[in-house]
Amino acid sequence: MGERYHMVCHDCPEEAMGNDWETVSARMQRHEAETGHRITIANVAPLQVK
Ligand SMILES: [Zn+2]
Repeated sequence: MGERYHMVCHDCPEEAMGNDWETVSARMQRHEAETGHRITIANVAPLQVK
């Protein structure tokens, strides 16, 4: 638990953050497919631990 993914597009302000990999990656992969933009994915540590 505690995973948190942050995806940003380098070619426009699009970004997404969430703790569910499939949701976030699906959104950004769709953006990439539609626009051809470059996306960076980071697994950022949570600020709080549950
Ligand atoms: Zn973009």
